[in-house]
Amino acid sequence: MSGQRILVTGGAGFLGSHLCERLLAGGNEVICVDNCFTGSRRTIHHLLDDHRFEFIRHDITFPLYVEVDEIYNLACPASPRYYQQDPVQTTKTSVHGAINMLGLAKRLNARVFQASTSEVYGDPHVHPQPESYWGNVNCLGPRSCYDEGKRCAETLFFDYHRQHALTIKVARIFNTYGPRMDMDDGRVVSNFIIQALTNQPITIYGDGNQTRSFCYVDDLIEAFVRLMGTPADFTGPVNLGNPVEFTIAELAHEIIDQTGSSATLNYLPLPADDPKQRKPDIALARSTLDWSPRIALKEGLKQTIAYFEQCLQAE
Ligand code: NAD
Ligand code: UDP
Ligand code: UDP
Repeated sequence: MSGQRILVTGGAGFLGSHLCERLLAGGNEVICVDNCFTGSRRTIHHLLDDHRFEFIRHDITFPLYVEVDEIYNLACPASPRYYQQDPVQTTKTSVHGAINMLGLAKRLNARVFQASTSEVYGDPHVHPQPESYWGNVNCLGPRSCYDEGKRCAETLFFDYHRQHALTIKVARIFNTYGPRMDMDDGRVVSNFIIQALTNQPITIYGDGNQTRSFCYVDDLIEAFVRLMGTPADFTGPVNLGNPVEFTIAELAHEIIDQTGSSATLNYLPLPADDPKQRKPDIALARSTLDWSPRIALKEGLKQTIAYFEQCLQAE
């Protein structure tokens, strides 16, 4: 739909900046709210001159009063390095942030989208993961602030839906990569590309046999917009990700090949509670959104490597 006024929380982050861009291109006004913890004005500087775009520096753990038609709630640090830096704030962002965005949506009778995560499945015993799987999450570990915060946010979304008849859209996002990822956030794709481009040892945690399924950012954003446009009775949760699974060692070799790097492999200990395998079952997204990812890892990595090359040259 075009001509809407849309709030994007976490809009100055990796996914948020792409979403703001996409919503503006679709003929909407966008209010981007971000406290710039992991995001920055740099990711949205090219949008600041657009009169339909407004940036507000604000922490969503505090109430927010704006007038909008739709809300995409993306605010939350996504990489373990950052979400573990201040774990209490991470939980507050997911839980208090969700309450505030749901309260806002309730007052405005606005549709509200939640960026949930594959981490709600924890270290899964069911593979690939369908939405019906309840997950295997440690509630006490270093990842819990993120995983349990996101699980509680889902609970709040469904309770506001049942209790206040709010139209909600819950997306469970699997590992996504692409241009504008933060160079220093410690995620595997950015780490490996930077290490390969600078010929530093590639840091493989554990034996490299753990798996992830990597979705290119453009594919994911397309799914966000389609999900927001589904009929009011479709709430999700719906898995969004690329179901093609790779081991971390395979990812390292692909990046070394594409960059022609002379980097060696450096095996380091696996972090606590690191999921051993992860791959979305996207049957629900296929049937309800008529969506599946189009950009293969090889192609997406090419774009991402080109982006990081530019970043390194600009330094
Ligand atoms: P990101 O860290 O680049 O973006 C998050 C943004 O939220 C940042 O701009 C940050 O400054 C902002 N933020 C954090 N706390 C805030 C607060 N209290 N108030 C206002 N703004 C705040 O991460 P991303 O990869 O763009 O992720 C966006 C969303 O998608 C997150 O909710 C994340 O949990 C979810 N997600 C991402 C992935 C992925 O692979 N990228 C996977 C699963 C889920
Ligand atoms: N809220 C907000 N903006 C609004 C409306 C509500 O940030 O436009 C916040 C408000 O601070 C409240 C929360 O959302 O704490 C939940 O609102 P709700 O109406 O569900 O609950 P209540 O106000 O009764 O606590
Ligand atoms: N990983 C790695 N080397 C790195 C960064 C991450 O081997 O330099 C591994 C990490 O242990 C995990 C996988 O890559 O098994 C994905 O990590 P990331 O932090 O990108 O995402 P998440 O664990 O949240 O899926």
